[in-house]
Amino acid sequence: MTIDEKKILGILASTEPPDDRRLGCILARAMMKKGLSLEEAAELLAVSGSGQQEKLFSAAGRVKEEIYGNRIVLFAPLYLSDHCVNDCAYCGFHSSNLALRRRRLTMEAVRGQTGLIIQMGHKRILLEAGEHPDTSIDYVCEAIRAIYGTKVGNGEIRRVNVNIAATDVEDYRKLKEVGIGTYQLFQETYHRETYGKLHKGPKADYERQISAHERAFAAGIDDYGIGVLFGLYDHRFEVLSLLAHAAYMEEKYGVGPHTISVPRFRPAPSVVYSPGFPVSDSDFLKLIAVLRLAVPYTGMILSTREPPELRKKAFGIGISQASAGSKTSPGGYSAKETGQFEISDRRPVDEVVRGMCRQGLLPSFCTACYRSKRTGEAFMKLAKAGNINFLCRPNAVLTFKEFIVDYASPAAREEGEKAIARELERIGDAERKEETKRRLGRIEKGERDLYF
Ligand code: SAM
Ligand code: SF4
Repeated sequence: MTIDEKKILGILASTEPPDDRRLGCILARAMMKKGLSLEEAAELLAVSGSGQQEKLFSAAGRVKEEIYGNRIVLFAPLYLSDHCVNDCAYCGFHSSNLALRRRRLTMEAVRGQTGLIIQMGHKRILLEAGEHPDTSIDYVCEAIRAIYGTKVGNGEIRRVNVNIAATDVEDYRKLKEVGIGTYQLFQETYHRETYGKLHKGPKADYERQISAHERAFAAGIDDYGIGVLFGLYDHRFEVLSLLAHAAYMEEKYGVGPHTISVPRFRPAPSVVYSPGFPVSDSDFLKLIAVLRLAVPYTGMILSTREPPELRKKAFGIGISQASAGSKTSPGGYSAKETGQFEISDRRPVDEVVRGMCRQGLLPSFCTACYRSKRTGEAFMKLAKAGNINFLCRPNAVLTFKEFIVDYASPAAREEGEKAIARELERIGDAERKEETKRRLGRIEKGERDLYF
């Protein structure tokens, strides 16, 4: 896999902001949910003025609604270790940060942290770790087994997604065997020269990073996520590169990325680097909308790096998954530790969920697809046939009901029950609606994990 930098830079250099007529044409095509060419994506990134921007957001919001409905799937990160052999200029765990008291969780601590995440109401974890010989794949796999084996009351983690350093096929095979959900790895920046300047250590190998998903694929992991750390290089170049990467994988393997993550640089302890290409809130929202239109069936993930108000806007124009209640250090759920970077949305899960209900969104803790083997190509077929709503809305309602019964505050329960009543009415298929109602009753009586 290579990114054709010359081609992308050429497109960016020759792109003119679209006039209203041209914008209308591109958006009309995008509404057909067949994606966008790199040239069209570049034009949309160039729109300016609140009128044009509103049209872009409204189209992205409609595509999102048609494919995903109003659901946002929630998860929490779990940091296993902050030991790292790499010296990434932007990261609080960088190896030259000698002031950091490093920590690697024992299995007991993994179970303890998992228990705390479960008690927040989560069913999904995103596992994170620095790259270090002590954080071997066997250690990571043992931690994943420990997470899946942790039960607290009615709660458990049903899906562990993994965001760890690029590795070889053999290691990826072990991750596959232990039952991971999505394997996520970010290129950070697709711009080779910038990549070279910001990385030291094994991660400095651009090829190793960009070809990692292919090795994961060779090991049988067809559910993978890509991403960029926005701020390191021109965001327009990064967006087109993400799209080129996705298109390459789709063409070669028949399966595009399951998710695209859009982390934006945040200050971090001992990090003196300041982003060469800071992305304004307005450009950030614009790029989320453009990605939504360009790869309509790809999930898009937003973390607590972003503040509540911005997250609220982003949920309406393209984001489908979000972290909540996050801590960004190993052991961070039980002790105040220095994190990998500063977060901006510090609200507990209960409050995030209430905000979503008030916004007309449906919080979801669903993990059904991966456990029903609806991943990779199977998932994409389902998504493209418009089935996500038939399956996902009922599953979202059922998992949200579990949250309400087991973890919600009285205020969240009240708002949540209203949201569930509203969502039930939106389940078009009468039989599915009735079955969902029956299952809601069973959840109230104590049954759990009743997914379609
Ligand atoms: N160490 C692995 C790696 O680098 O691929 C695993 C993931 S690392 C714990 C998670 C991600 O955090 C990185 O890929 C990077 O994009 C992001 N990150 C690092 N420093 C950051 C910062 N200062 N602000 C925001 N995100 C940051
Ligand atoms: Fe290590 Fe990942 Fe941080 Fe780089 S981004 S220093 S590889 S934890």
